[in-house]
Amino acid sequence: MPPEEFREWGRRFVDWIADYLEGAERYPVLARVAPGEVRRNLPAAAPERGESMDALFRDFESVVMPGVTHWNHPGFFGYFAISGSGPGILGELLAAALNVNAMVWKSAPAATELEAVVLDWLRRFLGLPEGFSGAIHDTASTSTFTALAAAREKGLPEARERGMAAAPRGVVYGTAETHSSIAKSVRALGFGRRGLRSVETGAGRAMDPAALARRIDADLDAGLRPLAVVATIGTTSTAAVDPVARVAEVAAARGLWLHVDAAYAGPAAGLGLLRPHFEGWECADSIVLNPHKWLFTPVDCSVLYVRDPASLRAAFSLVPAYLETGEREVEHLMDQGLALGRRFRALKLWFVLRYFGQEGLRRVLSRHIALARRLAGRIDAEDGWERWRPTRFSLVVLRCARRGTAGPERDRINRRILERVNAGGEAFVSHTELDGELWIRVAIGNLRTRARHVDALWEALQRAAEEV
Ligand SMILES: *Cc1c(COP(=O)(O)O)cnc(C)c1O
Repeated sequence: MPPEEFREWGRRFVDWIADYLEGAERYPVLARVAPGEVRRNLPAAAPERGESMDALFRDFESVVMPGVTHWNHPGFFGYFAISGSGPGILGELLAAALNVNAMVWKSAPAATELEAVVLDWLRRFLGLPEGFSGAIHDTASTSTFTALAAAREKGLPEARERGMAAAPRGVVYGTAETHSSIAKSVRALGFGRRGLRSVETGAGRAMDPAALARRIDADLDAGLRPLAVVATIGTTSTAAVDPVARVAEVAAARGLWLHVDAAYAGPAAGLGLLRPHFEGWECADSIVLNPHKWLFTPVDCSVLYVRDPASLRAAFSLVPAYLETGEREVEHLMDQGLALGRRFRALKLWFVLRYFGQEGLRRVLSRHIALARRLAGRIDAEDGWERWRPTRFSLVVLRCARRGTAGPERDRINRRILERVNAGGEAFVSHTELDGELWIRVAIGNLRTRARHVDALWEALQRAAEEV
């Protein structure tokens, strides 16, 4: 692509992006395509001869855009709502242009060192003590896999030479609320499905530390090898918070690795008011949080902090002759996990932290939490609606519960309300199941979400309930 053509299209794309972000509300939140529709509109093979950017962009608008679900829409309240931001998107653009591969220090000195600096800034923002060092991965799933692999290396050294068959059975502990990515890691690491214990929960669906202790001790008695506990701050269903300080005591007393999953709620540690939810996380061996979730950084950007980086090196460092570099005193990012090559993800996070500033980030997080409280207040004031309590962070869980409805009938009603609201195109909400019953989740986390969007959702929910 000649530089002049690149310049022209670059300008056009940036203009297009600015219009898109400003006008994301014009689109229906959920893509209105049937499964297979996008694919049917695309040829089976790449063109033999190169095509013009004009042709490419036309198809982007006519084939790709209709198949896009707009996470940038301020009415996106599903899963955990996210948004990139101007500085994050521009950082991503520069990272793509530099296209460095941060395998070893020499292959990308700036990417290696900026990652360390920016994650230390983030550590301070979060109020984590010195001594935690971080690395950026694609997703929380990968961060957790990396942490549990380090825990396995430390707690099950027998497996290193001869594999899992030669080692005692390792066990990891979570609860029924633990994210599915933990179960996936446990399976991928060779512990088998039975290698993950679901510890009983108490009030607020939080892990019961006494039950955890009993489970571990029973497994020890049975000759198993308890390895790691995963505590969650901000679970996916209800944003519940495990009592991390007490869980940490139980884990430490028995020499287990403690991994804290704060993929969604982690950034809220930067708010003084919410600090109590994070009590004890400084005792963790590893912590994951996703700046691509609630810190306005484009997907993908997940941060894994560990207290002992040597534990990651023990699990992952493997230096073939062709990667020997001679720089012994520096960190090589390839030693931090499974991936050898890695993108320059620190750049976009650096842009976000600097452009917003810590104060600016706190302001947006606080606004989202206030919007969640506003919605909670509306629900509480309305007969026939029920809110899952307590509401934590920026996630509101609710259902229509009119007198005389219960069980499967109530579930059917709520499912239809959900479908109607989502079909309307102005908002998107997702659901969860609690004690076998359906609840509607409203996750607030988009930069552009304002009170009017939350109010419009609440009106749409009420309207749908009337119709149903
Ligand atoms: C979103 C989430 C995950 C998984 O995140 P990915 O980055 O998509 O792998 C894990 N744990 C919790 C608590 C989450 O909210």
